[in-house]
Amino acid sequence: MIKYQRSSALFAEAQKVIPGGVNSPVRAFKAVGGDPIFVKEAKGAYLYDEDGNELIDYINSWGPMILGHAYEPVVNAVVEKAKKGTSFGMPTEIETEIAELAVSMVPNIDKIRFVNSGTEACMSAVRLARGFTGKDKLIKFAGCYHGHSDSFLIQAGSGAVTFGSPNSPGVTEGTAKDTLLAKYNNLENVKEIVAANQGEIACIIIEPIAGNMGCIPPAEGFLEGLRALCDKNDILLIFDEVMTGFRLAAGGAQELLNINADIVTFGKVIGGGLPVGAFAARDEIMNHLAPLGPVYQAGTLSGNPLAMSAGLAMLSELNNSPEIFLSLAEKTQYLHQGITEALDKHKVVHTINRTGSMISVHFSPTPVIDFATAAEVNNETFKKFFHGMLDNGIYIAPSAFETWFITEALTYKDLDKTITAVDKVAATL
Ligand SMILES: *Cc1c(COP(=O)(O)O)cnc(C)c1O
Repeated sequence: MIKYQRSSALFAEAQKVIPGGVNSPVRAFKAVGGDPIFVKEAKGAYLYDEDGNELIDYINSWGPMILGHAYEPVVNAVVEKAKKGTSFGMPTEIETEIAELAVSMVPNIDKIRFVNSGTEACMSAVRLARGFTGKDKLIKFAGCYHGHSDSFLIQAGSGAVTFGSPNSPGVTEGTAKDTLLAKYNNLENVKEIVAANQGEIACIIIEPIAGNMGCIPPAEGFLEGLRALCDKNDILLIFDEVMTGFRLAAGGAQELLNINADIVTFGKVIGGGLPVGAFAARDEIMNHLAPLGPVYQAGTLSGNPLAMSAGLAMLSELNNSPEIFLSLAEKTQYLHQGITEALDKHKVVHTINRTGSMISVHFSPTPVIDFATAAEVNNETFKKFFHGMLDNGIYIAPSAFETWFITEALTYKDLDKTITAVDKVAATL
């Protein structure tokens, strides 16, 4: 049994000066009970907490650490850059370097703008879509998360679902009325919404492979159907690739699924663990942004040299070694098979979804294909599973609505350890 005395003490202190003791709600253990773990340092696939416990990490900062923690080329790039000044508010060459590399890796984009988070990227992408089309409304899907800006806090997946606040106080009715809510993997539903709002919809924003209600891949023909619907109705299709970008393939979900979006948003991996987001599109759309065009968007720390050096080092590694994506997918498949066998052995009812290096375990007998089916999970079973895994040194997200993020730093020995833990825990469920 692992002890967490120091973490608990630190959490008590934190709660006095930080709301809920955390700077992002998903870090709290509200959905599973207990106190969150305070991390001291991390290396590769392992976390080392303030009590001296060693944990195999399946969150990986919610995605960015795709090559593992404290990855040397990234750390070195940041350290060297920091010595030369940490922010200028003036153009720097490295911004062009990372932009050129990103544009070369991702299909169907000519220009990219860097911001400081995935939230900012999605918020700005929607503003750009509205400015470009001259229309106001957007369609989002129940269970998809696009950051915490007002327009998106309508059935927003993981964090918001976990905390039972799908419509947050503080979001005005005026804002909510421009957000139309559709069902994931249900093209007919989207068609009906488009028909009922003819000429009013600027964009459809979607996680091309959903990752914030567990991992939910798009049904066959679903994204193609959205693409055709958008083309027919002058609606821009926004792929929110904050999670999937530079994770599922060098070119993200667009490349993996061979389908083009009009605007793509990024975050997580693109910053190599520093606060970075970005949005990108073809020239005709991106040229509407200030200072070229009328759509305003800005940031004092956007394109920050430390953030850009981390991102550039990360993308360079992925670009130079595309076999990483295959290796990640193989590891994830191995884990999938091992977990399935362990849960089956103990007759634990479950569904596992997986795409590339994203995988989610749902304690549900039915296929998980959208928000409604994701919400049918047995949370009591999940709680026990979560704490059982933790007691065995495996750290998964403290919510039944999260994807596990596989990192290349995980060895097959680590995966076997994880599967053994699942076997032990499953016996108790
Ligand atoms: C994490 C995430 C965001 C928000 O990014 P932040 O950097 O947390 O603001 C947006 N969209 C998706 C799909 C995400 O997974």
